[in-house]
Amino acid sequence: MIIDCHGHYTTAPEALAKWRDRQIAAIGSPSHRPSPSELHISDDELRESIESNQLAKMRERGSDLTIFSPRASFMAHHIGGLEESSAWAAICNELIYRVTTLFPGEFIGAAMLPQSPGVDTRTCLDELNRCIEEYGFVGVNLNPDPSGGHWTSPPLSNSYWFPIYERMVELDIPAMVHVSTSCNDAFHTTGAHYLNADTTAFMQCLTADLFKDFPTLRFVIPHGGGAVPYHWGRFRGLAQALNKPLLDEHLLNNIFFDTCVYHQPGIDLLTRVIPVKNVLFASEMIGAVRGIDPETGFSFDDTKRYIEAADLSATERELIFEGNARRVYPKLDTALKARGL
Ligand SMILES: [Zn+2]
Repeated sequence: MIIDCHGHYTTAPEALAKWRDRQIAAIGSPSHRPSPSELHISDDELRESIESNQLAKMRERGSDLTIFSPRASFMAHHIGGLEESSAWAAICNELIYRVTTLFPGEFIGAAMLPQSPGVDTRTCLDELNRCIEEYGFVGVNLNPDPSGGHWTSPPLSNSYWFPIYERMVELDIPAMVHVSTSCNDAFHTTGAHYLNADTTAFMQCLTADLFKDFPTLRFVIPHGGGAVPYHWGRFRGLAQALNKPLLDEHLLNNIFFDTCVYHQPGIDLLTRVIPVKNVLFASEMIGAVRGIDPETGFSFDDTKRYIEAADLSATERELIFEGNARRVYPKLDTALKARGL
């Protein structure tokens, strides 16, 4: 089985963005806020938006199941305040839930949180509970920088985040550490901010002892871990200089990397440097990079090809495609076992 642990609903019907535009226009004038009930998207529209996009590509490329979450760049936690983020997260998560009920074999949900810069993270817990307990989601996206590129929040090792971690541990779900749109002109959203955040999240964990306090907490760092695998020697050396344990022991029971790296040499490096048990298959399709690579004639984000061509044993490939996801997302494993898979 091939499980893609990183897909977003980037193809939601236009009505969703229009509702969001109205919500943004009403910031500061609560009486003009659109009600969630004013958003109308039919099951047929949802079906069409998935069947002709993500599902068509899954079938074409040969992946079976996608862990599906709201569009990351649309989370935009920096816009408005808690009220706006709460309504928006609830709407986006419910749409994901509807997709998972329309395509239960192919999609399973991961939640977006109603984060807002400077706001107590306990305000995220009701939505997190709803998504896991009522919607059957198996993971959550955690934005380490809800300011959108200004990094005003404390590092991930700070107790600011602990209410979310405590609930994640109770629910036994991992978080994909995933930023949203950059509102800082210095950082291009998907080309710089995403990869910076992946690298930053790893380093925040390296300098701290977060996983001593939360030994079962699990983070998936997307986009191949940003600069981390490429600079593994630097991180090993910094851990040594900071008198931290070896990275295997210090971080690799808790941190995992996906395979959203869009060329063969990058995947070769990732799978050679990072232990296979820490690598989860993903493509982030349909996402930031939608073109065809002129050097190969295939889509940049058709990452299954790179895993198949990498120097891996059949057992290692199976771990990357399926086994690791089932271990890191236990609720996914339970859901699959319930289906006899
Ligand atoms: Zn993503």
